[in-house]
Amino acid sequence: MPLHQGPREPGAPERPLAVNPFFGEADPLNGMTEAPPRHRLGDGPIPPSTAYQLVHDELMLDGNARLNLATFVTTWMEPQAGVLMAECSDKNMIDKDEYPHTAELEQRCVSMLAELWHAPDPVSTVGCSTTGSSEACMLAGMALKRRWAKRNADRYPGSARPNLVMGVNVQVCWEKFCNFWEVEARQVPMEGDRFHLSADAAAELCDENTIGVVGIMGSTFDGSYEPIAEICAALDALKERTGLDIPVHVDAASGGMVAPFLDEDVVWDFRLPRVASINTSGHKYGLVYPGVGWALWREPEALPEELVFRVNYLGGDMPTFALNFSRPGAQVVAQYYTFLRLGREGYRSVQQAARNVARGLAERIEALGDFAMLTRGEELPVFAFTTLPEVTAYDVFDVSRRLRERGWLVPAYTFPAHREDLSVLRVVCRNGFSSDLAELLLGDLSSLMPQLRAQPGPLTHDKDRATGFHH
Ligand SMILES: *Cc1c(COP(=O)(O)O)cnc(C)c1O
Repeated sequence: MPLHQGPREPGAPERPLAVNPFFGEADPLNGMTEAPPRHRLGDGPIPPSTAYQLVHDELMLDGNARLNLATFVTTWMEPQAGVLMAECSDKNMIDKDEYPHTAELEQRCVSMLAELWHAPDPVSTVGCSTTGSSEACMLAGMALKRRWAKRNADRYPGSARPNLVMGVNVQVCWEKFCNFWEVEARQVPMEGDRFHLSADAAAELCDENTIGVVGIMGSTFDGSYEPIAEICAALDALKERTGLDIPVHVDAASGGMVAPFLDEDVVWDFRLPRVASINTSGHKYGLVYPGVGWALWREPEALPEELVFRVNYLGGDMPTFALNFSRPGAQVVAQYYTFLRLGREGYRSVQQAARNVARGLAERIEALGDFAMLTRGEELPVFAFTTLPEVTAYDVFDVSRRLRERGWLVPAYTFPAHREDLSVLRVVCRNGFSSDLAELLLGDLSSLMPQLRAQPGPLTHDKDRATGFHH
């Protein structure tokens, strides 16, 4: 959540919400004597239809999710999924005694993911649902940290400071983990045309205080897969040389639900013995509305037992590992519904369609002649591109701003350490962004090109940089 701080304009005279006389209920006879205030609780209740209309109308100003090419998060589900979610909106995930069947569906999802990610023994794989990949990454990071501490029980908590090795392209949740749990974030910078972690650089940064290495299946910056198998091989070699045995966590927030269906030959999951845990976002390419992620550990030894709590005061005795206590059950049910509904072949064709749209659109944007592609939707159905060096009349921020005038949200942002000189646009193709919509985007971009090329120079000032949300 954004950290809100009081009303937006403190001190300004209070402006009540505007009630349209058409709502018909803003009169004393119906119990509503005045329009409700905006920033404090009103004195009394107002009729439900008026309250509904007021909230509904304000939300009209939110963007159109289908035109949002910035987010990875699901913006469309079938009506049947919506019905199931509404039916389950009163179920509290933690209350496994009251809702044993919701817990059962959660367990089945974990088993399905264990099999999908080639766990050596799906029966003993441990896993749980979370609110998203961020929570899943916190849990996985905590397990790594505790394992390291136990290995070093004679030195910890003395002077040793644990560290976690990762690429500078990690999603912000890993910076949060390191900040909140006091772990040093050892980030490998980008180098030239390498925009994510390399195996050698990862192994080089490891020492006896390294709790693990994070590899990403599907970098948020450009949609590329990190070379997980190479990273594991480099760590195997490190172990040969030095005895250091560093576990790997794979952050497969997006790729965990893409690679198993489209890239079966890419070995990135529990097939690699060094991979201790994996997370994914059910609400990204898992195709469920926001609010669900998954974390799995190869075997019980990867998740120290003392981190697991047994909740018995709601009546049951179920081991749990979570940051939250109460949490909605609807998203977990929707995940199970989607697994059941699509099966492997269904997921494969949905993800293949997204990849086809991404590849086709990337190719046609490249053909406009002004852009250099960093990626082309070959891994995640995502691609990033920048302007060619000879393009001086406009920059990526201008493109993003002009597309916004047509309703499209295509974020532009600067790359991190060592490639701050590089600014890109990124397009995330998701289920629901059809080839028809891609055609419309391309049409809008093509018709903007003459105006962009005629600019005297880039027009978007620094204050407007990093347009839109891109994580
Ligand atoms: C989106 C993302 C996250 C965070 O996931 P949420 O489900 O939004 O919490 C973490 N890592 C990667 C690689 C991501 O793409």
